[in-house]
Amino acid sequence: MEKATRQHIKEHNRNLVLKTIFEHDSISRADISRHTRLTRTTVSDIVADLLTEGLVSEIGVGESLGGKSPILLSLVEDSRYLIGLDLAHNQFRGAIVNLRGKIRELVTLPVNSRNGKQALALVYEILDRLITASSVPLVGIGIGTPGLVNITEGVVVNAVNLDWKDLPLAQLMEQRYHLPVSILNDSQAAAMGEYTFGQKGTSESNLILINVRHGIGAGIIIQGRLFHGDGGGAGEIGHVVVVPEGGLLCRCGNRGCLETVASAQALVKQAQALATQPIQTLLPRSPQEINLDTIQLAFTGGDDNVRRAVLETGRYMGLAISNLVGTLNIKNIVLTGDMTRFGRPWLDAIREVISTTTLARLAQETQIEIGHLGENSIILGASAMLANNYSLLFNLTEMQPRR
Ligand SMILES: [Zn+2]
Repeated sequence: MEKATRQHIKEHNRNLVLKTIFEHDSISRADISRHTRLTRTTVSDIVADLLTEGLVSEIGVGESLGGKSPILLSLVEDSRYLIGLDLAHNQFRGAIVNLRGKIRELVTLPVNSRNGKQALALVYEILDRLITASSVPLVGIGIGTPGLVNITEGVVVNAVNLDWKDLPLAQLMEQRYHLPVSILNDSQAAAMGEYTFGQKGTSESNLILINVRHGIGAGIIIQGRLFHGDGGGAGEIGHVVVVPEGGLLCRCGNRGCLETVASAQALVKQAQALATQPIQTLLPRSPQEINLDTIQLAFTGGDDNVRRAVLETGRYMGLAISNLVGTLNIKNIVLTGDMTRFGRPWLDAIREVISTTTLARLAQETQIEIGHLGENSIILGASAMLANNYSLLFNLTEMQPRR
């Protein structure tokens, strides 16, 4: 056998063992062998390496099934740290995250509408602080940014609010910090976060996450991997047309996009229009005071017009999700973003449309839930890209930041 192939098989087997250990709180060598179908000897050899690396430890003995009690192994969750960054909100947030998705250090900086190079300087400031704070070997840096991203090249193709165009973000970060860097857009990162750390107990390997905020985007995970699409633009569902005739003009130049009727921005515009009409309303009358907070107050206070407007956004979301479910038959749908504050009524409006516009069998199987990670989903997802790349956990000596 050629040396390269042997090395490849060795790495493949090691990743299999590591994945199995990641998926269990604790597990014996015999059970790893059963899960991976690798021989006991191969598993023992690999586990010996993992113990030496400090990635895994022996934590006690399990129940005996006749014979000797097995020694249980567990991931040492603080043996390596990852860095996750969320650039999608009006404050940039960065965190040191351990291998189980626990945040160990958090830095936030207000953006105050800074963009271009100034926004980039903020990113450096957060990373400088986090890297100085970490005493544990770092695996890499994962970044969730708004806008269109070329994941393979690590380039931010276009992020309007930050005024970044064709920015080689991964390259810039790698040159400065000497660590592997992964770039995703915010919805893709949130999908990775919910998939890796938020969905405890489900064994589904497919997931669609839809991030409904100022804009709308989706992250699609197929067989445990983020689906990029041919140009990295998979999941841009905010610009799917759902009002074919007479729709509102969208920021992309088309009319009737999902964003014009189902986003937070669309709802605020509608509420502003409502407040100027001679009707009874719990909304403030001045358009400047209308935002998601005041809309939510009117909604929970029982304002019928506001309630109708909110549920209407949900129905359009339902229509778009129905198309995705009909195309991909993915059962596990997770919603995140500002609009999830409208909770159960909004969710029910979405579910109702899906049940009437999707093939009955597909609709029955589909589970639509609000995400579990809250505001941390993007940070955790950006870091999960690295945690799932098991090979990175070993090549630490080659790329470590200069301090
Ligand atoms: Zn559009």
